[in-house]
Amino acid sequence: MVARERREAGAASGPTAVASSDALIVVRNFTKDYVMGDFTVNALRGVSLEIGRAEFVAVMGPSGSGKSTFMHLIGCLDRPTTGDYLIDGVNVASLDADERAEIRNNKIGFVFQGFNLLARTSALENVELPLAYAGVPTRERRERSEAALEAVGLSDRAGHLPNQLSGGQQQRVAIARALVSGAPLLLADEPTGNLDSKTSDEVMGILVRMNEERGITIVLVTHEMDIAEYASRVVVFRDGKIETDRLNQNRRRPAGMPPVAAVPVVQTKARA
Ligand code: ADP
Ligand code: MG
Repeated sequence: MVARERREAGAASGPTAVASSDALIVVRNFTKDYVMGDFTVNALRGVSLEIGRAEFVAVMGPSGSGKSTFMHLIGCLDRPTTGDYLIDGVNVASLDADERAEIRNNKIGFVFQGFNLLARTSALENVELPLAYAGVPTRERRERSEAALEAVGLSDRAGHLPNQLSGGQQQRVAIARALVSGAPLLLADEPTGNLDSKTSDEVMGILVRMNEERGITIVLVTHEMDIAEYASRVVVFRDGKIETDRLNQNRRRPAGMPPVAAVPVVQTKARA
């Protein structure tokens, strides 16, 4: 704990400090090289951006442009070759593996294209898993997981196994699991990639609601413009760099949701 405090103090005053920024995510000059024998892939070639709290960012770009690599880095699943990263004011570069795992558990929920639910495990138990790993007592675990399933409209499916649920329902279970620990940041890599457009709209409806009602910050990779249009900001990657970074003034609304009352305030300026 003392080590952690010292590191955080260092982060606040050191050369990578961003004391003036209240952003949830601050990325400075990320590069990522994958070395394969005597061949190196420069997957990211200098990416810098800030993402404010409660922003909803869509990440787009051609296949191979570095989107998933970027998501892995901001998800603390991998480390950059060079560059700095602060999440919620914590300098990730200074953390050891255990501390990074703690950040992942407390601050970040993940949703993937393939749902990644445990097959022989009910919807409710799938949602409970992260709480079980975190040592939350059985009863509290159950209550919080039931509430999370209710929030994604699946209370009546709690006892179903994944193969007894539609693709859209499985993805909603995955969203409940991603957010049950109270993480402020949700990272989603092609979450609607396996879903038809009506089901995609339902899943996006859940994400838009989590963003607007709970202030969850969302970073979502998609190759579909239709999906990106739900976001408040669209960042396009090309060849391992950010090509464009723009606010989305005409956000698409999920079926049945009222128009946006006010355009969300973007607290930070992107540095593309
Ligand atoms: P995207 O998600 O935009 O399709 P990726 O981030 O997956 O792009 O990949 C960016 C580049 O890095 C690609 O050229 C890809 O082949 C390469 N790459 C991604 N992951 C690895 C890896 N683990 N090892 C080697 N090369 C990789
Ligand atoms: Mg990818």
